[in-house]
Amino acid sequence: MTRLPYQNDSLPIEDRVADLLSRLTVEEKAGQLTQYFYTGDGEPIPEDFDIESLPPEYRVHVELPARIEAAIRSGRAGSLLFLRDPKLSNRLQTYAVEESRLGIPLLFGFDVVHGWRTAFPVPIAMAATWSADIVEAAQTVAAREARAAGVHWTFAPMIDVARDARWGRIIEGAGEDPVLGAAMAAAQVRGFQGDLGVDRLIAGPKHFLGYGAARGGRDYDDAEVSDNELWNVYLPPFRAAIDAGAGNIMSAYMDLNGVPAAANRNLLTRMLREQLGFEGFVVSDANAIRSLEVQHFAADQTDAAARALNAGLDMEMCMFDPAFDNLPAAVTDGRVDEATLDEAVRRVLTAKFRLGLFENPYADATATATVLGATEHRTLSRAAAEQAIVLLKNENAALPIHRDTVGRIGVVGVLADSRRDLLGPWIFDHDTTETITVLEGLRTALGTTDVSYEAGVGIPERVHPSPFDVTDASIERTPEDHDDDAALQRAVALAEASDVTVVVVGQRQNQIGEKASTSTLDLPGRQLEQLQRIHATGTKVILVVVSGRALDLRWADEHVPAIVQAWYPGSRAGEAVASVLLGDVSPAGRLPFTWPRHVGQVPLIYAHNRTFLPDEQDARYIEETNAPLYPFGYGLSYSAFEYDNLTVEPATIAPGASAVVSVDVTNVGDRDADEVVQLYIHQRYGSASRPVRELKGFRRMFVEAGETHRVEFSLTPAELRYWNAGTSSYVQDATTFDVGIGGDSTVPLDGSLSVTP
Ligand code: BGC
Repeated sequence: MTRLPYQNDSLPIEDRVADLLSRLTVEEKAGQLTQYFYTGDGEPIPEDFDIESLPPEYRVHVELPARIEAAIRSGRAGSLLFLRDPKLSNRLQTYAVEESRLGIPLLFGFDVVHGWRTAFPVPIAMAATWSADIVEAAQTVAAREARAAGVHWTFAPMIDVARDARWGRIIEGAGEDPVLGAAMAAAQVRGFQGDLGVDRLIAGPKHFLGYGAARGGRDYDDAEVSDNELWNVYLPPFRAAIDAGAGNIMSAYMDLNGVPAAANRNLLTRMLREQLGFEGFVVSDANAIRSLEVQHFAADQTDAAARALNAGLDMEMCMFDPAFDNLPAAVTDGRVDEATLDEAVRRVLTAKFRLGLFENPYADATATATVLGATEHRTLSRAAAEQAIVLLKNENAALPIHRDTVGRIGVVGVLADSRRDLLGPWIFDHDTTETITVLEGLRTALGTTDVSYEAGVGIPERVHPSPFDVTDASIERTPEDHDDDAALQRAVALAEASDVTVVVVGQRQNQIGEKASTSTLDLPGRQLEQLQRIHATGTKVILVVVSGRALDLRWADEHVPAIVQAWYPGSRAGEAVASVLLGDVSPAGRLPFTWPRHVGQVPLIYAHNRTFLPDEQDARYIEETNAPLYPFGYGLSYSAFEYDNLTVEPATIAPGASAVVSVDVTNVGDRDADEVVQLYIHQRYGSASRPVRELKGFRRMFVEAGETHRVEFSLTPAELRYWNAGTSSYVQDATTFDVGIGGDSTVPLDGSLSVTP
């Protein structure tokens, strides 16, 4: 059989794409731009099956897969999402490769957010490591496992800057800061995508742009973001992800400044392609093009399809009835230029060729047995969890717990022994039997020491149920007939009998994430009351917080000697928490966001602009300070570090030149430990007023006890410039910068750098 040029893998990808494109009908082109949620099993509906016997709301689940299978066979589907069984993916792939006219393989996408079978800590926790290395390594593993399961493309990383603890998706990003966010975005893209070899995924950073600014922290609400914030805060992680080679970008759901992101030409063409130079393909968020009509933007579905495509959106993600089915009609009536359609198809086909799908469309379904949950993957997950844990308070060295002298240990809290919760949201292939809970971790680590447990008060379910809660028998829940009073009594009795009580508090995994905004940062249910009662017994309380957002810890911070932010640590949660509590590891995680005292302060950020009062005098609430409970970049260690001999060389530079800032970092404690060294600057004056301080560099490093390391950072024009909203351009002012290096965002800025023409 003679091979057509697009089937010839010795030709350059560009030529193969051009050849294939020339053979496609307009309908097939629209098909390549369509991605369906597939929830079937690849089996035909039996002929004698009486669909009318099903309640109407269920019929769609039977009919849809069949419709999608037909679309694949006729070349009208380019991609599917949410398939996690490689045998099923392979089967559907045969419909595309062997039965469709041109045999174009399907692209399988999935939300691979923080692991596949091996669950890593949630992304906000990974950001708390302040280590691009471990973040990259973790996503390399996630890619390897997901690719083994037949996935080609991840809808991750989520790199939306998030400054509002009420917003549930704060857990999926790297927090409030554009520089930390950019570093984490690039590291994740490198990890997922690498060289796009057979064990990698196309990375799809999301959601472009400003999704984190949802009004009131309510997921999906519209966002109004000034040009200043858009360019200086929300954009930098996307620039970094694109510079790192991201092959895909997902657009956001909401209106940004009055125009839906999925059909926003300013975003998708001017910023993304012209300013950032993005060459990959853009996918919509789920059903976002269909909903352009609901958003009072598009007149009908043809209008929605045409305006999204014309704005620069390439592929539609949808459940059913794609708006993009109307693209052929839009081409016929002239609303869409066929060249625009071709451009989108070219981008999608290029991704398929780059992945090698025309040569190897099928997954090796036997690979999952050895790859998923491999020992070295789980080892890395534990290391990541240990690096992510943040020690928030440690009065009189309450921690670490000393094995020899500890006495009786009690553990309290449903989250201490909940396998599913400790993984966090966005894990679908979990095998909870492989998850190690905090209770199990402590019991194993303490060996013969008696560790007693009480679940204590329940954590109430969400008032509004989560649409993302899959029915899963392994999800532990507080039973409805749970008697909180009795459980609390038992917890208090355990505390009375314990020298040390580890109290685990926080939110369940379905109380954070997509569509899990909150109007309060209080600990759900009676967890605070329980903590207070336990504390009143006189036991030494070690508080472990399981959450993906800041919670109101004011009472705890005042009364409890030790507080550990554990996040949702993943598959090896319990071992990581135990190694920190017992001092096998010195904690060095740092907060990737400013931790507010109270929900009423939100949004509270360290990099704010100043009006007239210095921060110290800044009590502008009548009953609460402006200050956070814990600052950005903060976290304690079992060791101690000193910073000395800060130099800036040269101290005066011309615009466009760079300087080197250095400092001595000494571990003055008595144990080897990691430290996260952070560089902050502040521009004193210029053509716009600038934040009181801004992170410009950081390095997580290991320092032996008693050792000093000289640490250097460069301040280049890229760090010293900013987007001037007045002139709509990047500027670098002739000015003076205050400069400081230290262990969190409160470091004194006692160096300086002048820029003079
Ligand atoms: C989310 C996306 C996600 C998609 C597919 C949407 O609801 O906003 O982030 O990738 O669903 O799961």
